[in-house]
Amino acid sequence: MEMTRVFSGVKPTGHLTLGNYLGALRRWAEVDQHQADALFCVVDLHALTVDHDPARVRRLSRQAATLLLASGLDPKRRTVFVQSHVDEHARLSYLLECVATDGEMRRMIQYKEKAAREQGRGGSVRLSLLTYPALMAADILAYDTDEVPVGEDQTQHVELARDLAVRFNHRYGHTFVVPRATAPKVAARVMNLQDPMSKMGKSDDSGPGIVYLLDEPEVVRKKVMRAVTDSGQGVVYDREERPGVANLLEILAACEGGDPEALSGAYASYGALKKDTAEAVVEVLRPVQERHRELCADPGYVDGVLRAGAEKAREMARPTVDAAYRAIGL
Ligand code: ADP
Repeated sequence: MEMTRVFSGVKPTGHLTLGNYLGALRRWAEVDQHQADALFCVVDLHALTVDHDPARVRRLSRQAATLLLASGLDPKRRTVFVQSHVDEHARLSYLLECVATDGEMRRMIQYKEKAAREQGRGGSVRLSLLTYPALMAADILAYDTDEVPVGEDQTQHVELARDLAVRFNHRYGHTFVVPRATAPKVAARVMNLQDPMSKMGKSDDSGPGIVYLLDEPEVVRKKVMRAVTDSGQGVVYDREERPGVANLLEILAACEGGDPEALSGAYASYGALKKDTAEAVVEVLRPVQERHRELCADPGYVDGVLRAGAEKAREMARPTVDAAYRAIGL
């Protein structure tokens, strides 16, 4: 049977959220153990695309790596590493910038949103925010990746990585595997509990609407119980018209297994739905938090995993990146 190569990453731009966990991390830990060969990465270079504090980025990188392991990734079977420890990402990114166009970068939804936010704050937009998808494409293509498990917000960037791989191969000869994104059926886009029209994003500062992976059970309960619900009667699953309730049903379904629409029939009131959702989230986070505590007590172990992961990743990426340099004429 063919091995499928899987790659995905998380940015250390803030504390990891329930959205990161349900949309990505939990699925990474579930990647089929035998058919897949998988790499998971803390993509710290991507954290420099917006205003950042160096010490905070370093701290959050470490925390994200620890949470990847706490989510159940087995470092004996999986390659877990930090992007900046492997030079190949930046080396390949430049070549992909020479294949991508300014227009396609400017069309990225995330660029438009983040650039507008920076400008709204009176700040300036870093050039790396525009070129970010080229570096992300490099992350993926360097490892001959087939599959990229991500939340819905990242599918457009994976599509761009696909386009760049196809274009490069067409112009310079077959070099890259053409990857595809996979999003989960439920909870592909967990929404902010206080503003269910926007994504639960870790870099937003709107604390009360965001459940963080390391929130204490009492904090989780408080945030879920205070979630904004919609006006209207009854518990109905409708993402367009009743986004607040639909979000809670999706979170509950993702935590307990099941289908959000089917679950909606079991609830007569928003209060009961919130209570069960809060408990389901607390239960899902409990083992992750326990394992995180254990790992924090053993920093040498985490260091060793990341060192070995970077070495392995470097060995895997180098032949493909070297081949790309040759193919493009260097
Ligand atoms: P963020 O947007 O929180 O900064 P990242 O870009 O680091 O997240 O994403 C890490 C992974 O988590 C990606 O696969 C992304 O699609 C997924 N993800 C992020 N936020 C959510 C969300 N609210 N719902 C589902 N998946 C999400």
